[in-house]
Parts: sequence; structure tokens; C-alpha cells
Amino acid sequence: MRLLVVEDNEELAELLVRGLQSAGYEADVLSRVEDAASVLQTTHYAALILDLGLPDGDGLALLRDLRHRRNPIPVLVLTARGGLNDRVQGLRSGADDYMVKPFALEELIARIEAQLRRPGHLLGSSLRIANLEFDTRNRQASIDDTPQVLSARETEVLELLMRSKGRVVSKKQVEDHIFGHSGEVASNAVEVYVHRLRKQLADKGARVAVHTIRGVGYLIAEDKPT
Ligand code: CA
Repeated sequence: MRLLVVEDNEELAELLVRGLQSAGYEADVLSRVEDAASVLQTTHYAALILDLGLPDGDGLALLRDLRHRRNPIPVLVLTARGGLNDRVQGLRSGADDYMVKPFALEELIARIEAQLRRPGHLLGSSLRIANLEFDTRNRQASIDDTPQVLSARETEVLELLMRSKGRVVSKKQVEDHIFGHSGEVASNAVEVYVHRLRKQLADKGARVAVHTIRGVGYLIAEDKPT
């Protein structure tokens, strides 16, 4: 599988390519928005790793353009900007996932693999477990096709858990996802959001369970009657 890395920091780009190669992927590197936009029109890549600060423009503009043209390629955004506003803006522009620099290469590869495994990532943008569905494009959760009103934080937790379906998500990953690496986080903040999310899902009849794996993290799964 071939991936496209759009990153103007040569050292980082090289590191990414080597890491991806050792995980069994081929990768091309470009450093400019303009080049990436034209190559993406003619070449099929399995996923895109996109830096935001590029010499000839903003990666988010490229992302918005891709989505505008209904290109469903999974996009993992790399950003040095840790602020929540940038994260929200990025997700609204159609990013599938985020990594704030600096990051561990292993984690980037794991996240890319999660994107590539994502059910139906070539067809649409909807994640489903039992009667619970999450549309990643408008970030809307539905239960039995009824849209649900969740707070922004609950939505973020749910999205992360559903994207990681079948895998345990650590408390730290949830924290980083919600608050960014630099955020000041109350020690029980994640528990509070998970608790609220769990209650909302149960109250609305979602047939899913958010399991706490003590000392490890959280796992969402279909709640099968025993
Ligand atoms: Ca850059």
C-alpha cells in the first residue's frame, strides 16, 4: 500500500518514510500544497499524512479542497499547534485523525493502520457498533438512526473509542485527544466524560458498552445479552 506524506521538514519526512517502510508501506513525500493537490488528483494513495504549516500554504486548505471534491482518502494531520481551536478546525475540515508534534513514530503507524482498517473507509465516513452509528464527517452520533445530542467532549470521547473499535484506548490517549498534550487536565476529567457518555448511551438505548479495563484504559464494544 502506498501512502503520501506531505511534510516540509526533511528530517521528519525521512523519519516517517523509514518508519512506514519498516511497517510494510511505501511512501512518497511532497513538501508543497500545490504539488500535493495536483498529485492527489491523478494518483491513488491509501492514506495521506499531512503537515499543516507548509511553505506555500496551509495543509488545511488542501484538506478542505480534497473533501470538497469528495475525495474520501483517510487523512492524518500532523500539527505543531497544540491548541484545541486548531484541532476543532482541522476535524471540521475533514481530518480523520490528529497527531500533535512531537509524537512517537509507533503511535503514528498504529493510528494510520487504524485508519486503513476502518470499516468502510473507502465507502463512507460512518462507524457503527450495534445500533450506534457515528458519522465522522459531521461528527454526529445516532442511535437507531435517531441523531443524539452529545456535548463536544462526549462526542470526542465517543469518536476516539469508535475509531479504535476492538482495541483498548488508554486514558492518556483520551486525555491527549480531548485536551492536547499541553492541556492542564484534572486527574479525573477523563473518568467524568466517560461516565457521562456511558450514561447517555445507556439512557438512549444504545446496545454498546464502554468497558473500563482497570489500569489500561477503555474499550467500546457491542453489549451482547449474556
Ligand atoms: Ca511544516
